[in-house]
Parts: sequence; C-alpha cells; structure tokens
Amino acid sequence: MKAARLHALRQPLRIDEVTTPVVARDEVLIRIAGAGVCHSDLHIRSGEFPLPPGFDLPLTLGHENAGYVEAVGPDVTSIRRGDAVAVWGGRGCGSCRICRQGDEQCCNMALWVAAGGYAELMHVPSERFLIPLDGLDPVAAAPLADAGLTPYRAIKKVLPHLYPGAAVVVVGIGGLGHMALQILKAVAPSTRIIAVDVARDRLDAALALGASDAVDAGGDPAGEIMRLTGGEGAQAVIDLVGSDATLRTAAGAVGRMGIIVVVGLGGGTLPYSFLGVRAECTVTCSYWGSYNEFREVLALARGGHIRPVVRRYPLEQVNEALDSLERGEVHGRAVITP
Ligand SMILES: [Zn+2]
Ligand SMILES: [Zn+2]
Repeated sequence: MKAARLHALRQPLRIDEVTTPVVARDEVLIRIAGAGVCHSDLHIRSGEFPLPPGFDLPLTLGHENAGYVEAVGPDVTSIRRGDAVAVWGGRGCGSCRICRQGDEQCCNMALWVAAGGYAELMHVPSERFLIPLDGLDPVAAAPLADAGLTPYRAIKKVLPHLYPGAAVVVVGIGGLGHMALQILKAVAPSTRIIAVDVARDRLDAALALGASDAVDAGGDPAGEIMRLTGGEGAQAVIDLVGSDATLRTAAGAVGRMGIIVVVGLGGGTLPYSFLGVRAECTVTCSYWGSYNEFREVLALARGGHIRPVVRRYPLEQVNEALDSLERGEVHGRAVITP
C-alpha cells in the first residue's frame, strides 16, 4: 500500500510503498477516505515538536481520519468490514490516572504523532477507538476528528461563562475557527459571536457562518471588541492562534470574570498579572478532545449543525496541502483523499 512518510525533518513527505499491516485481536484496518491536514503536522515536519521516545523516522503522519473498515481482528465485535467509521486519535497509555478518567488525549504518551492517516490503509490498535459514522460522509467527517473536536472541547470550557447576551470571541478563522463558529451557533445560540482574523476573506466567511461581528486583527482588535460590547468585554475568548499578538488581544478583550482558552500553538506568551487583566479572569488551555466529546461532535454534524468546509487533495499532493496550510492559503480544512 502507499503511505506518505516523513523521512527527514524540514523535508517533503515521500510516497512510499509499504507493507500492508495485518490485524490481530481487536485491531482494525481502515481504508482511509479522508485524512485532515493539521498544523500539528507542520510542527512535526519542522522539528518544533520533538518526537516522543520510541518514535523514529520515517513516520506516517495524519491524525484526523475517517474511512471504511477493511479488515478486523478475530476479537472485534462492534463493527464489520465495510462500515464507515471515524477514528478517535487522542489515545494514550490507557492506564495512567488521566487516561482512566477518559482524557487520554492529555496522556504523556503522544501516540498520535504517527497515527498514520496519510496512507491508503491505516492500522488502528483497537476497535474501541472507532466511532460509526451513521450516515456522515467520511471525507467531511475526517476533519471533525481534530479541527472539530479541539474547538468543541474549548467551547465546553467556556460555556458556563456564556449567559444570554454575553460575547464570545474566536480568534483565527481557519480550519478550527470555521468549525468553532458553527459549534457556538449550535450550543450557545443566544451569545454574540465575534470573529477575529487578519484576512478579509476569512472574516467574510465568518459572517457567512453566523458570526455576529468580524474584527480585523490588523487594527486594534481588543479596543474594537470593548467598543462592540459597550465596555464590558467578552465573557470568553478562544484563541486558536496563540501568538504574542493574539494573546495580547485576548487579554485586552476579556471582560471581568471572563475566561481565555488558549488552543493555538503559536508559541506566544500571555501577559497575565493581577492588574494586567480584568478582575478574576481565568486563563487555561485546551488539548484536543476525549472520545466521548468526539461522539458529541459527530452528533452535532449529524444534526446538520457543523458542515466542514473541505478542500480535497490526492495522496500524491500531500506536500502541496501541507505547504498551502503553512502559507495560510487553505480555506476550511485540507483533506487528503488517498
Ligand atoms: Zn491536529
Ligand atoms: Zn495515560
């Protein structure tokens, strides 16, 4: 089978002919229909994410996956060959305290690094990581596994702050941001949703997706948000970029007793001090999402509340997809369709 593998840092992936995995016990082989292209893969390619212990190049990247069951091990009971499934990717060691409470994606073992979706077939170590799609298109569903799930978990953290009429800010309207707006529309319909981005076309897309206001990050976004909210500020800011500039915007735009959730891996630092932010602000980060949260995201999609905007690339164009993402040229999510 074909797989797009990273052989050396800062180099393009190579399309290799590799051995098709065999399945034992409760393992499953998936024929990939869609594999979302994520910023994290750029960080792995560039070496900014050091490879965890036990991982060596070459690696098959790709951790937002959906497709059809190709083969099942003898102990598999929940799915059959031909079923359309999404793969929950955040699996951890399975036995530490965090894994046992259901937050495996926060485990110290970053097993997702080599999840293996940029390939014709993908080996999944247990059926328990799969969720039947029940009618969803696997190409559209693939990016829900991260670009949908990650903002969903962040939104769950801010929901207790969102009283009717409160403002929530989403910074960065890319792959995650366009899903965040749709999820907020569904789960917090009485809030004012303010989108922030540097690109005019993304702000226009945000308004089309239901944002109440679109704020140009190139001006004085925090000042504009304070003005839009009558001086109250936003009750929640979800920063999907995480740069110095966007975190400054978050700190300047969050209102009293509000919350900032940092999701983007932009490497910035938040200027947080007693008098530097408004009274009793909470700052936290949000890390991917749990298996159950992924089920909730898929339920939202089945209900028509999330419609991922997808641009398809064949496996042979995986490097074009990664490079387009790096240049900020992808609208919605790039999805590899082997
Ligand atoms: Zn990702
Ligand atoms: Zn663990």
